[in-house]
Amino acid sequence: MLIIASSNGAIGIDQAMDALKNGGSALDAVEIGIRLVEANPEEHSVGYNGYPNILGELELDASLMDGRTLDSGAVALLRGYPYAISVARQVMERDIPHVLLAGEGAERFAREIKAEQWESMLTPEIVEVWREGLEAVGATQWVARQSDKIPEITDQTPLLDWVKLATDPERVHGTVNFIAIDGNGDIASGVSTSGWAWKYPGRIGDSPIIGAGNYADNRYGACACTGMGEMAIRAGTARSLVLYLKMGMSLGEAARQAMMDLRDLGGDYIGGMNLIALDRNGEHVGMSSRAGAIYIYQTASMKSYQECERDLVKIPGRWGNRPLD
Ligand code: ASP
Repeated sequence: MLIIASSNGAIGIDQAMDALKNGGSALDAVEIGIRLVEANPEEHSVGYNGYPNILGELELDASLMDGRTLDSGAVALLRGYPYAISVARQVMERDIPHVLLAGEGAERFAREIKAEQWESMLTPEIVEVWREGLEAVGATQWVARQSDKIPEITDQTPLLDWVKLATDPERVHGTVNFIAIDGNGDIASGVSTSGWAWKYPGRIGDSPIIGAGNYADNRYGACACTGMGEMAIRAGTARSLVLYLKMGMSLGEAARQAMMDLRDLGGDYIGGMNLIALDRNGEHVGMSSRAGAIYIYQTASMKSYQECERDLVKIPGRWGNRPLD
């Protein structure tokens, strides 16, 4: 039994491991671990109290994958429901032929299955951080007008320029990743995020895109990503890594190759990327484009999780015509 997670999964990894020890499945462990992160008000990139979009609305993305069958479930742009990972699991497990539900359809589904709904998804402190973030780039006009409420913006409000100014590549990182191997040797993976701070409404990242931010296949292994989701979508990162395992690469080689694919992307917007991965033998690895980044792991015989340093593959960042160091 093994669980690996991004470092913000520390709050959930013990309970996830307890679930495995009590006979729970890898899917159970992934869901339990991620739910605890989604409910954590101190974590501003996942679930409740995440950073909202440019309009001050919190839109959640999540997915999970069952390595036994490659069954998957995902939701995108989910508002009002803190446990996006549980809604994603229901998309997979209810008797419907879909994998990904987004926006109002996802919310309708969540309502129909009676998923836990919270009236307020943001604390006043985060609304204030959002307002300051917009004021910092000169969007004072309408932010000031909103006083202490989530704003009512009309369809005519121009957002394009503000999104470009306000989204901050330094804040792009933030997703929780969990991958588990249970007592039967089955593998599952899951990810959940509130996406970029101040993103354009309707922007969907890699987290709900199976093959981009998340992938699990019992026969080879699993991978989950955090970082600039657009890059993982373009490179098909999580699926690529598992495919490299299938092609016979070692876990280390496969992970490095997946990072090199990201490093080689063209285009004007390139930010940071991180991944964690394991193979079916229980070897695990973490990679990052940032030096000193860590991930965590726990086996059944460990009392608590252990931190591991991620291997570094530098990806020179750029934002429009500005290089990022
Ligand atoms: N990958 C997430 C997204 O692009 C955010 C992150 O992990 O930084 O939505």
